[in-house]
Amino acid sequence: MNFDLNILIRPNIRNLTPYSSARDEYTGGEAIYLDANENPFNAPQNRYPDPLQCDLKKKIGAMKEIPADQIFLGNGSDEAIDLLYRIFCEPGTDNVVSISPSYGMYQVCADINDIEVRKVLLNPDFSLDTASLKQACNKHTKLLFICSPNNPTSNSFPKKQILELAENLNLLIVVDEAYIDFSERSSLIEELQKYPNLVVLQTLSKAWGIAGIRLGMALASTEIIKLMSSVKYPYNVNRLTMDYAINALDNQTIKEEWVDSILKERNKMEKKLKMYRFVQKVYPSDANFLLVKVKKPKEVYDYLVSRKIIVRDRSDVPLCEGSLRITIGTKEENSALTNALMQYQRDFVESCE
Ligand SMILES: *Cc1c(COP(=O)(O)O)cnc(C)c1O
Repeated sequence: MNFDLNILIRPNIRNLTPYSSARDEYTGGEAIYLDANENPFNAPQNRYPDPLQCDLKKKIGAMKEIPADQIFLGNGSDEAIDLLYRIFCEPGTDNVVSISPSYGMYQVCADINDIEVRKVLLNPDFSLDTASLKQACNKHTKLLFICSPNNPTSNSFPKKQILELAENLNLLIVVDEAYIDFSERSSLIEELQKYPNLVVLQTLSKAWGIAGIRLGMALASTEIIKLMSSVKYPYNVNRLTMDYAINALDNQTIKEEWVDSILKERNKMEKKLKMYRFVQKVYPSDANFLLVKVKKPKEVYDYLVSRKIIVRDRSDVPLCEGSLRITIGTKEENSALTNALMQYQRDFVESCE
């Protein structure tokens, strides 16, 4: 592929001299450290964390079979999204293209950075409208966001379609794989060597069950990762998060058990929901949530809130009219939900018929 990253980079970033921290300048290991104005007491938390995040990157790299220098780690994948805007998009001039409906942070980060988002509706069956996506791009388009599996529509997109876009567009294709562990499709990480304009976002917030520690990642070419590392805050991932993640990643079995349980529960829930008369559609899901179209979404939502069960009302989102987004919980939580919906049907639906 004939792709020049340099022309996509904002000039101020191309010319940036990154901050050099004490820990960047001396990396010799065991020593008497009097270089960073740290407190000598209260080890190990008295020390600044490794700005290069070497140990954690090594671990993630081995797990995902990707070199450490193709990994960016951040405070959630949200940090990676924001950095991509700041590196590539000139405020007031550049734009990004995104599928719609999709994850809300692409728009929020764009607004904060004064970047236009050109939204391209999915087809009514939630498939990609690749022709319109291509048409929406112009010479100021720097990023194209494709979330797969997509939030909130819950489906994923064929790799072939995404790669075809990558091949034909001279911009970065950002594939958000927050839900990839629940998907039947494999990750696009496998394609990074062939597609220098591909950026894959992943996170420990969903399948790994550690949204609270805030660790997300971008996987991309060494050039893109180098840029992200030079623009990030030097100590963007703290020591507690790194230590926790290194331990958590040792237990891949528990993650797989959680995913299995969630997928089983999802399939059960899908069947149950389809039996309610007020449920018009349960969309096929490739993630850990279901998008469910009901006759009176606000009424169902409020009823569930009165029973202290909170789902996400997506009924105002384009193409998701009438729909609620329901995360799959534990067996007990899911039963509480289906029982409440049974009661709703008895009290609100049958009495009106
Ligand atoms: C939940 C989610 C994320 C996760 O973001 P983190 O900042 O890593 O917690 C990213 N993308 C999508 C589409 C999500 O739904």
